[in-house]
Amino acid sequence: MSNPDLILLHAPSVYDFRCEAILYGPVSDLVPSTPVFEMYPIGFTTIAEYLERFGLRTRIINLAVRMLEDFHFDVEEYLRKMDAAAFGIDLHWLPHAHGSIEVARIVKRLHPDRPVIFGGFSSTYFHRELIQYPAVDFVVRGDSTEAPMLVLVEYIRNGGSAHPPAGSVEAQLLGKIPNLVWKDASANIEVNPLSYSPANLDHVLLDYTHVLKAVVRYRDLASVKPFRNWMNYPITAALSVRGCRYNCLTCGGSACAFRNLNARRQPAFRNPEELARDIRRIGQYSHGPVFVLGDIRQAGDEYADRFLNAIAGFPKPVFIELFDAAPKAFFKKVSQALPNWTLEISMESHDQRVRQEFGRPYSDAEIERSMDDALEAGCQRLDLFFMVGLKEQTYQSVMDTVEYSRRLLKRYTRDGEKRVIPFISPLAPFLDPGSRAYEEPEKHGFRVFAHTLEEHRQLLLAPSWKYVLNYETRWLDRDGIVAATYEAGRRMNLLKGEAGIIEARAAEATDRRIANAVALIHEIDQIVDSSTGVERKMRLHALKQRVDVSNLSTVCDKRELEIPVRGVGVNLFKAGALIVQDWWDGLKRAS
Ligand code: SF4
Repeated sequence: MSNPDLILLHAPSVYDFRCEAILYGPVSDLVPSTPVFEMYPIGFTTIAEYLERFGLRTRIINLAVRMLEDFHFDVEEYLRKMDAAAFGIDLHWLPHAHGSIEVARIVKRLHPDRPVIFGGFSSTYFHRELIQYPAVDFVVRGDSTEAPMLVLVEYIRNGGSAHPPAGSVEAQLLGKIPNLVWKDASANIEVNPLSYSPANLDHVLLDYTHVLKAVVRYRDLASVKPFRNWMNYPITAALSVRGCRYNCLTCGGSACAFRNLNARRQPAFRNPEELARDIRRIGQYSHGPVFVLGDIRQAGDEYADRFLNAIAGFPKPVFIELFDAAPKAFFKKVSQALPNWTLEISMESHDQRVRQEFGRPYSDAEIERSMDDALEAGCQRLDLFFMVGLKEQTYQSVMDTVEYSRRLLKRYTRDGEKRVIPFISPLAPFLDPGSRAYEEPEKHGFRVFAHTLEEHRQLLLAPSWKYVLNYETRWLDRDGIVAATYEAGRRMNLLKGEAGIIEARAAEATDRRIANAVALIHEIDQIVDSSTGVERKMRLHALKQRVDVSNLSTVCDKRELEIPVRGVGVNLFKAGALIVQDWWDGLKRAS
């Protein structure tokens, strides 16, 4: 089989995490990934599908999952055997700052003639610094890179030089690719205008069958899994929007961050009927839940109605996000359309002032009424998320959030109900670059410890998540954030055990894990305070086994986020049938 035109590589957060002793803490407790952040961004799937649609062969390789699943997996040996016209690496979430650059260096060493392309939010933010790494040939900026990537990979496939002399025909061609950052033959950096920012998501097809096709084509399921546990819990995402109408203080996906980084003045929405089609297509081969990214009311009531009409009767679990309080009629419509839906609310804090400083516009009464209405309408489950490390949030305020959760649970578990589930976790490990808090920290009471990409890369190698945090606040310093997180996690866990939301045995296990994590973080502090250099490294390394155990689910068990999945999560036979159908349709179109 011929080599692909593009290989997309997803690196672990820290390379090589298997040798480092780093207490990652609860930073990934509330996402499907482990602390290695092995989940690749959704853009991998959309880029791969888009390039394939135009005849370019693309392969996704999740190195992070491979490394997680096999301690002896030899990245260099594996990549040595790979080849493609170009390699793409995501630096979307900043916690990949370390691993992504290290993987780029390996690729460049093994395949010096093959261009290495970076993309993603963090790549966009740090593009001027990123392009200066010798292992990085191109950075594609912006939130929608499918079309510029197509032009760039075609240019490379046709033999175009990655670093042409200034003024040459090739340099002129590169100079015309929107959003591209590149270097000429004299290492001069060229930043093309960020002129490609499509007004909607009609060009994007979030089609996971493309991923499954790669399983058939390369006989390699392990490399393409979105995250480690995906076959058991195949949660997938459906993309309703790129951008957001809200301006939450610490969010790199907020309206002002999108405006400044991606030249996006308005969110780009997916056509609601297409969004429903995306979800139905996923449902053809997966019993897992589909998480609809973005509040479907952001584009207005008409959009929400059209989506709900188009998805009506879809029987599988669907997660819906709520960014603001909603009227009763909305929840009724959701329930009529979706018999099996979960509501996700990030309330951040029980304290209205803290919440509103963060950017959540609703009062307690408004959001509680929405919760009542959603439950009455028939929502199967309601996840409520709180955060630690916010503006105006003190230690006491964090503990009061747990007490607020206690009151809520009393109210919502009265008749043996267990549909409302609160979670608390730190806003960690990094404040998002581009967010208001990161850009104007003093104004908002934050202190930021890292400003460059390289500084973030170094932070990621710190021995515990306390030192990895790129911020602290006027109200909670790093020690305070750690202490409040563990204590709030401990109390929230006991509370859920008492309320019967989790089994007593599970609550006891989480309590033990939190106690171990607290002991470990103190031991690490003691080592950091009393040693340096090789001695510190050796003493930290002696803790590795305990650290690795402690890194899996700290303040809650990750499985608490999961809803039951019926039967085989991903039906590969049905996926295979879809693939054959696609090929057949393609043949019919071509004939
Ligand atoms: S956190 Fe706020 S700004 Fe960010 S995506 Fe969610 S609603 Fe939008």
